[in-house]
Amino acid sequence: MRFAVLGSGSGGNAAVVEAGGTRILVDAGLSARQITRRLGLMGIAPESIDAILLTHEHGDHIRGLRVLLKSVAAPIYATPATSHVVRDQLGVASWKIFESGAGFSVGGLAIESFAVPHDAVEPVGFVFRTEQRAIGLVSDSGHVTARVTEALRGVDSLFVEANYDDALLEADTKRPWSTKQRISSRHGHLSNAQAAELVAELAKDGLRHVVLGHLSRDCNNPEVALAAIRGKVEEVACACQDEPCGWHDGPSAPCEIRFGRDELFG
Ligand SMILES: [Zn+2]
Ligand SMILES: [Zn+2]
Repeated sequence: MRFAVLGSGSGGNAAVVEAGGTRILVDAGLSARQITRRLGLMGIAPESIDAILLTHEHGDHIRGLRVLLKSVAAPIYATPATSHVVRDQLGVASWKIFESGAGFSVGGLAIESFAVPHDAVEPVGFVFRTEQRAIGLVSDSGHVTARVTEALRGVDSLFVEANYDDALLEADTKRPWSTKQRISSRHGHLSNAQAAELVAELAKDGLRHVVLGHLSRDCNNPEVALAAIRGKVEEVACACQDEPCGWHDGPSAPCEIRFGRDELFG
């Protein structure tokens, strides 16, 4: 099992998990054109996607979905409330509904869902599990609940939101106070410090490989975010907004593939 982040940030989020021939797209918040292009860079034909999982209904997680469905025939897996609000925005789509907190499987790959606190109707995170590995994915979470920590306990790899640095958010002059309040609220986004605390806790139970995502362009940067996590696990990398990183095969395979802008936007 391995995963790759196609892009992450407020400009759009999408990731892909691959295991034993099963390919799962998590969120479709980039444009369909960019998702298709970036899947291609990862060696994946869009029509080979077996399932699309939605974490929640915010635009930066579903923006490309409607157009993507023209070339991807995969069913959409979502919680009841999320599917309800997204349904109207799509044309014909095949839905697979799971209850928040429930497990299900796609092509033999076991997937667990868990509730996260975020200002969306029924947001969730996921754990993907095979006999050898477990990969956790948590983003758009205002804080780390006990349920989130327990759901992720035992994963060896984790994609986790590191949205903002407390000091950079405080110092930001572009955002009004109300927006800053929303970001840092208990139903907003995870800070570097909150991500670091979660990583340190999970490292006690085998977490070794971390990929940070959903970094704010103004209130965070990769150096600051990586510095907050470094030393807590064997390896930490940062996902980007504008390009996919390479496959994350496991703790010993760093993210090193870099694509030129022409390949992405040409
Ligand atoms: Zn969100
Ligand atoms: Zn988001």
